[in-house]
Amino acid sequence: MRTTISIILFTCFIPLVQAYDDIGQLPADSITPLFSIEKLKQAMLASEPSSCQPHLKDLTVVKVKYIGFDEKEHLGCIIIHKELANDILDIFKTLYHNRFPIADIHPAGRKPNTTIAYNCRAVSNQPGILSQHSFGRAIDINPLINPYVNGEQVLPKEGKPYVDRHCHHKGLINKEGLVYKLFEAHGWDWGGHWLDVQDYQHFEKRANGEKRNPLGYGNHH
Ligand SMILES: [Zn+2]
Repeated sequence: MRTTISIILFTCFIPLVQAYDDIGQLPADSITPLFSIEKLKQAMLASEPSSCQPHLKDLTVVKVKYIGFDEKEHLGCIIIHKELANDILDIFKTLYHNRFPIADIHPAGRKPNTTIAYNCRAVSNQPGILSQHSFGRAIDINPLINPYVNGEQVLPKEGKPYVDRHCHHKGLINKEGLVYKLFEAHGWDWGGHWLDVQDYQHFEKRANGEKRNPLGYGNHH
């Protein structure tokens, strides 16, 4: 009996990390519905918070090529809303061909500079509001070099040296650069334009063409 139970537990529970390893097998420049990847589907249904469960069926895995800070070619997976998968594939193909450096792309977002899209969480400093990342409708690119700045608060905190946006750091996003131009051309909004906080790493495209109020949450003017 004991053996039976442990076998059932073992076969039902697939750790998310192991499921991510599996999507490493997907081909470059591909778009795959998340729910067609059985291991990842099961792992996320078992591990993601209930507030994000209803949106998991809308997610896709986009496998992209990118040029790392080491100037070599890498492959990475971006989990994004199915309506935005073609935008992401187009944008990252152009970034790759122009050799725009990206430190790391991984859906688990393991390091301060990891580029990540889907991530079930609240808006920073707004605990009751689900972030657009929770719907797979936002992406953070090179977050260490392009931090979130809210007055004195800098996220990730290691990003403090990059609050000065006039320096030419590798992987920096600004209005004159390719990353901003590509997302803008695809109709995405940039967090670097907001007036209440500056979220330099963040691009989003909300459902039904809705836009975040650039003055911030709770400002309805
Ligand atoms: Zn973000």
